[in-house]
Amino acid sequence: MTVSSQQDFDGHEQVVFASDAETGLRAIIAIHNTVRGPALGGCRMWAYASEGDAVRDALRLSRGMTYKNALADLPFGGGKSVIIGDARSQKSPELIAAMGRAVDRLAGRYIIAEDVGTSVEDMAVVRNVTRHVAGLKDGGSGDPSPATARGVFMGIRAAVDYRLRRNSLDGLRVVVQGLGHVGWDLCRQLADEGVRLSVSDIRQDHVERAVETFGAAPIDTDSIFDVEADVFAPCALGAVINDNTLPRLKVAVVAGSSNNQLAEDRHGALLAERSILYAPDYVINAGGVINISHEFGPSGTGYDRATAFAHVDRIHDTLMTIFKRADADGVPTNVAADRIAEERFKLSRVA
Ligand code: NAD
Repeated sequence: MTVSSQQDFDGHEQVVFASDAETGLRAIIAIHNTVRGPALGGCRMWAYASEGDAVRDALRLSRGMTYKNALADLPFGGGKSVIIGDARSQKSPELIAAMGRAVDRLAGRYIIAEDVGTSVEDMAVVRNVTRHVAGLKDGGSGDPSPATARGVFMGIRAAVDYRLRRNSLDGLRVVVQGLGHVGWDLCRQLADEGVRLSVSDIRQDHVERAVETFGAAPIDTDSIFDVEADVFAPCALGAVINDNTLPRLKVAVVAGSSNNQLAEDRHGALLAERSILYAPDYVINAGGVINISHEFGPSGTGYDRATAFAHVDRIHDTLMTIFKRADADGVPTNVAADRIAEERFKLSRVA
């Protein structure tokens, strides 16, 4: 396998293989683009079947962070790291510290944060060996989910305004798939605005709680795609917009937190053909990364939640810009988003 021939290599600035004999660490740190600033992206720990799979995942995720950070208007580039191994059985503080030392050797070109398989607690361990880490509980921004949910809420507002010409959410019908950290908090904000909710989750206890708390209508996990509503908010899984589900949707907007909602890029065009307005996932779900980026506020000021959340709220205006650009260029919204991101990270360095 050659790294530079991978589909998502796409001019990566630096790809590092990090290892540590004592702890058994095997990791890849991928830095895609630092034009806007140091690469910021989480660290995934996963039992990859091969090193090739790990490299592929690191490159794909790292490239995605360049786009995400650029559209979130952050002074950061894109990067990501992966540790090869089972987080449940092979993770130890010593291994995480070894990862932290590997990050430190990059002297600030890459800033690590938590992701699938790593935790805020792990980042505290990393902090003992490097300052190039974000997403800390003590003195940091803490749990990213409330910020992500806030961003999705603002994104739904923007999409409803653009597509349905409505400023108020009162009486709107929204279907939420997944009542986890983000989905639940999103439901709370929507219910406060008088939205009529339909919800599904594979966990029946979550569904029952939503019925009790928000007066939501319970939907079984497969029928969720058939519900007639204004908005479908996927907050559970990736690839939910696919050849099977797309023809069944009876909504005007798709806007939710899940990563990689489109099974393939072409599904963005198919949504547009059906006049369903799609809020590109990596734009609408950027609240979490926006929030942690504020740990690196102007020196001396530190993290300030109000400032961070005001930045998260700008997801509304970013999406409006994307929707207008999509119409002006005659392209699907996912293509318009990529174009605007590329203009931002290919042009110039942030001052
Ligand atoms: P979570 O694990 O807390 O919640 C996911 C929920 O979805 C769980 O309640 C789970 O039972 C449910 N679920 C799983 N399969 C389902 C199915 N087939 N149908 C219905 N429900 C199902 O995760 P989260 O942190 O709330 O994140 C939700 C999504 O948003 C994920 O795709 C995640 O990658 C993405 N995301 C999260 C954040 C964040 O800050 N947490 C940031 C960006 C993106």
